[in-house]
Amino acid sequence: MRLILLGPPGAGKGTQAQRLVDKYGIVQLSTGDMLRAAVAAGTPVGLKAKDIMASGGLVPDDIVISIIADRIEQPDAANGFILDGFPRTVPQAAALDELLKQKKMKLDAVVELKVNEGALLQRVENRAAETRARGEEVRADDTPEVLAKRLASYRAQTEPLIDYYSERRSLLTVDGMMSIDGVTEEISRVLSAIGAGAKGTGKGTAKGPVKAARAPRKPAKVSRKPAGAAKKAGKKTAKKAKKPAKAARKAAKGAKKAAKRTARKPAKRSAKPAGGKGARKASKPAKKVTKRRAKR
Ligand code: ADP
Repeated sequence: MRLILLGPPGAGKGTQAQRLVDKYGIVQLSTGDMLRAAVAAGTPVGLKAKDIMASGGLVPDDIVISIIADRIEQPDAANGFILDGFPRTVPQAAALDELLKQKKMKLDAVVELKVNEGALLQRVENRAAETRARGEEVRADDTPEVLAKRLASYRAQTEPLIDYYSERRSLLTVDGMMSIDGVTEEISRVLSAIGAGAKGTGKGTAKGPVKAARAPRKPAKVSRKPAGAAKKAGKKTAKKAKKPAKAARKAAKGAKKAAKRTARKPAKRSAKPAGGKGARKASKPAKKVTKRRAKR
C-alpha cells in the first residue's frame, strides 16, 4: 500500500503514520525526519536545509524530490510506504506522480487529516513538553513563532495539494480532531472502504462503495479493530544526501510542467464542485476549502 498523509504541522501525521506502519507492514518516509538527520550529520543537504528548517520555511523542491526518489527505491519500501511530510508543494506532487509512473507504482490514497488550526499550537507545545520530559532535545522549529511560519508555509504551499488530489480523486478526508485511536480507526475505515490495505487486514474486499469512502460525511463507528501488529518494517531511514539521481531530475522537470498546468486552473474545483459520475462528493469539502480560504 502506498499512501500520503497530508495535514498541517501538528495534525498528527507522524503519530498516525507509526500506527499504519505497524498495521500494514510498510515504511514511513518522513522528509522532516530525513532532513533533520541530514542536519544532525552535517551532510551537504543538511547544511543547506538547516537554517531554512529552523525558520519554518520549505527546503527547495529538488532536494526533497531527490531524497524521496532514492528512498522509495530501497528494498524496505517494496511492500509499500507512507509519505509523511512529502509532497508539500504542487511541484513536489507532480514530481511524485512522475516518479511513480516511471516506476510503475500506484498510489492508493492521500489521507488528509483535517484539524482545527486553533488546536495546533497547543499540540506542538505538548509535543515539545513531552520531548523535554523524555530528556530529548526539542526541535528547533517547535516554538510558537516558528510554528506560525510553518503554518503560513502550509497554507500557501501545501494546502493547494488538497485541490490537487481531489481533482485526481485520490483524497480521503479524516477528522483529525478525534482521539488518536479514533483517528486511527477512521483512517482504517476509509482505507478498507476503498479496498486499500486488504493485505494487512487479512481480508480481501472493500467494505463499501468507494464513493462513500471518498466522501465521509461524519466519522462513522468502525467495527473492525486494527489487525495485530504486522511485521515492523524498518523505520525512518535517514541517509542519502547525494546528488539528484537521473530519474529524480527527470521527475523534477516533468513536475515543473505539470505544476504550471495545475497552476492555470486552481480555482476551478472550488467554483464548480464535482458532480459528475463517480465524482467524490466534492461539493462539501470544496466549499469548506473555499470558506476556509475566504476567512483568512
Ligand atoms: P511538521 O511537523 O511541520 O509537519 P516536518 O517534520 O514534516 O514538520 O518537517 C520539518 C521541516 O522540514 C519543514 O518545516 C521544512 O522546513 C522541512 N521539510 C520537510 N519536508 C519537506 C518537504 N517535502 N519540502 C520542503 N521542506 C520540507
